[in-house]
Amino acid sequence: MIDTSLLNADLHCHSDVSDGTLSPPALAARARANGVELWSLTDHDEVGGQRAARDAALALGLPYLTGCEISVSFAGETVHVIGLGFDADDPALVEGLARVRGGRERRARAMAADLARVGIGGAFEGALKHVGNPDLISRTHFARFLVDSGVCSDTHDVFRRYLTEGKPGYVPHHWAGLGEAVRWITGAGGVAVVAHPARYRFSPTAEYALFSEFHAHGGRGIEVVTGSHTAAEVATYTEIALEFGLHASRGSDFHDPRESRTDLGMLPDLPGRLRPVWELLAHRVIHP
Ligand code: AMP
Ligand code: MN
Ligand code: MN
Ligand code: MN
Repeated sequence: MIDTSLLNADLHCHSDVSDGTLSPPALAARARANGVELWSLTDHDEVGGQRAARDAALALGLPYLTGCEISVSFAGETVHVIGLGFDADDPALVEGLARVRGGRERRARAMAADLARVGIGGAFEGALKHVGNPDLISRTHFARFLVDSGVCSDTHDVFRRYLTEGKPGYVPHHWAGLGEAVRWITGAGGVAVVAHPARYRFSPTAEYALFSEFHAHGGRGIEVVTGSHTAAEVATYTEIALEFGLHASRGSDFHDPRESRTDLGMLPDLPGRLRPVWELLAHRVIHP
């Protein structure tokens, strides 16, 4: 088999169909310009941008995998599971994602009410101004409102002072179950990947449970190289990938040219000891 571990794959980013700021075609053009060789748009809990992303990628000569990033509740934390290479019209997946999106507006109103208690008014309407898809109001849109209105200096400052557990504007939410999300993805012919594993605050025991249950449910991938991982975190999750027999993914998690630290395609290579997740997805890649 040809070694594809050095492929410039970027299998994680967001458009204005979720909490990114660029349209799917603008992202495709940016990925192409940055030298990406295999691309996927992975909006949160939503596949509404897939057709536009795929059509734009193919028109630019860029191979494409369908994608999404599903919000999951596991052991009291929110975990993100990326689906790649699935059939975006699969009824169980489409219905499952609609249910996960369901409570977002109610949650957003509760977040705004909590912010009002610390003197920040008009947050719901303010966040809504940044929303491209009314079904998908997220904390990122509140973060943009808090920066715009001068309450915070940037989104990093927002998530340090607001919207996270124990801080004003945080409202707990029940997302999909881990097994459910993995089944929606695999049932639609795709591969499930644990996104940005270093971002969760799990004990070693809970982290072990996450990866063993994920694997038992049929999850096959782990995002080892991603925009928010340090070199030490890449090394840590390389070992976890090998320990749990998971294939490695690579994705920037790009949201916006100013907010995101890592641009599309501008990532370190996958460590050579790992098997790339795209080896499992060769038959699902849509070629120009
Ligand atoms: P939600 O799905 O509404 O809970 O929003 C989660 C989104 O908020 C993530 O996908 C990120 O885009 C953003 N986010 C969460 N925590 C942080 C953070 N510490 N810094 C920057 N963005 C964050
Ligand atoms: Mn996001
Ligand atoms: Mn995420
Ligand atoms: Mn993401």
